[in-house]
Amino acid sequence: MRTATILTAGAISAASAGRINRADFRREDIIYKDVAIIGGGASGAHAAVRLRQDYNKSVVVVEREPILGGHVDTYVDKTTGRTHDYGLALYFPYLDSFDFFSRPEINVTLSPWFPAGGNEVRYIDFTSGQELTSTFQPPDESAGPIAVKKFHDLMTANGWDNMTQPGYWGFPAGKDIPADLLLPIGQFAKKHGIEAMLSTMYPSTGGGVGSRGNFEDILTLSIIKAFPTAWSKVFFGEVAMFSIDGGNQFLYDKISTLLGKDVLYNSQVVNSKRSNSGIELVVDSARLDDDEEQPGKSRKGKGKGKATKKLIIAKKLLLAIPPTRENLAPFDLTPAEKAHFSKPKYGRSHTAIAKHSKLPAGVQLRNLPLSATANPLSPFLQTPFVLSFTSLATDSPLFSLGSSGTNYTAFPPSEAKKVARKAIQTMVDAGTLPDLEGEEVEFVAWSDHGPGGFGVSAQELREGWMEDMYALQGKRSTWFTGNGIAADFTTMLWKFNDQMLDRIVEGL
Ligand SMILES: Cc1cc2nc3c(=O)[nH]c(=O)nc-3n(C[C@H](O)[C@H](O)[C@H](O)COP(=O)(O)OP(=O)(O)OC[C@H]3O[C@@H](n4cnc5c(N)ncnc54)[C@H](O)[C@@H]3O)c2cc1C
Repeated sequence: MRTATILTAGAISAASAGRINRADFRREDIIYKDVAIIGGGASGAHAAVRLRQDYNKSVVVVEREPILGGHVDTYVDKTTGRTHDYGLALYFPYLDSFDFFSRPEINVTLSPWFPAGGNEVRYIDFTSGQELTSTFQPPDESAGPIAVKKFHDLMTANGWDNMTQPGYWGFPAGKDIPADLLLPIGQFAKKHGIEAMLSTMYPSTGGGVGSRGNFEDILTLSIIKAFPTAWSKVFFGEVAMFSIDGGNQFLYDKISTLLGKDVLYNSQVVNSKRSNSGIELVVDSARLDDDEEQPGKSRKGKGKGKATKKLIIAKKLLLAIPPTRENLAPFDLTPAEKAHFSKPKYGRSHTAIAKHSKLPAGVQLRNLPLSATANPLSPFLQTPFVLSFTSLATDSPLFSLGSSGTNYTAFPPSEAKKVARKAIQTMVDAGTLPDLEGEEVEFVAWSDHGPGGFGVSAQELREGWMEDMYALQGKRSTWFTGNGIAADFTTMLWKFNDQMLDRIVEGL
């Protein structure tokens, strides 16, 4: 995911105040469809394919970026020709969701997923640059999986798995939410004697789902969204992990070809009208020039030309974008909807590929606080942080990295780059890494993964935030999907879509 903002949030708000007059649009700029889908990530792209191919409905996808795929980032190393997935890494089978990969129009091949780089892991405190002792063993390799299995059994025994995956259709009303799920994850783990699961959940959730502060203080429900029961099976060997041959972007390239002109790239909604009888959207859409190189991406995307305004007239709207206040500003929200969507607070995460010839190839440098030596069950970092630098191959100067910050607006790519560069310099200054000999760390690919985490407090959930969220489904011809409101794994989001699509097409 890159950020190609066509309009600033302020400009969008201003534009959204206007009325929509069909006479302002040329006939060829008015698009009539059954369903307008906003966002072409895993959720939006899947919904578009299924609505068009399986339900015979016409669709248009409005995607802000020049390519489909959302959190997928496939980098092609031009020197070696190898592909590296440095955003979304893998897929695991959830119910029958893998059938989507083998649809005749898509038909991508999956292979077992293995982590990149060499086997050697060095544990280093990136804030002091000091290495933990060579005998240090983190619990995520032994006690962690056992505790994760107990977590799994606890979730299923209480029926908490079905409440929280793939989405929250069956979630209880605020006052009936099980109290355990509203505990901070640290307290939840302690109460059930499964503290060792935390150090496994921590890296798996990118250090705390967009890192809304100290990991142990994050709401259990929020962690469960990023570490659902179905995913936990991976850690005790009940489920395997796969990636797409040729890189994960390949799937979305195929979908892009399949959907053809039904996707508007480099496009954003700037004004809208929603009612129970249908929706109208004004879209700032770039006229598409020839395919252009996309920095750090495996494929060319649609180049941006002069923006044109288009009017979409559709029977239904499916929002497959993070439901942030900024994203939803152009969607003609009622005061109650505005209040609802202004509650969640989001963190921000980035992934990147850094290049430096003096960093140790074949090694993962994992960031752990020195205190983890005495207390390996607490490997948690203060935000903002880089979780690790992972060598992509023993013969390559490339390292993937992931970085998280607590406050969305305070952690743009420029800040995350500073944090990454500082971490490397600190390790050099401490003598843990060799001198960089004046060579700058270069980021050959960068992806801003935008708002992360769930960001709703226990109090807001008790007051019915989730109930209200799902009560909005279908109102004013509008539906919501995506990782903002369902379990945050592609295959689970696809199952969430499956449950929703029957509802959307009713009456179409
Ligand atoms: C770093 C990272 C790694 C991950 N790794 C994995 C993994 O290995 N396996 C896994 O299953 N899941 C992984 N996930 C979880 C991932 O979020 C989901 O699997 C899934 O990709 C989410 O898809 P989505 O469509 O709901 O959201 P997104 O992928 O965020 O898609 C939203 C789309 O909407 C577009 N968009 C956003 N705002 C607007 C707007 N205003 N107008 C128009 N378009 C807009 C975006 O460009 C994007 O294409 C990872 C997440 C992150 C952040």
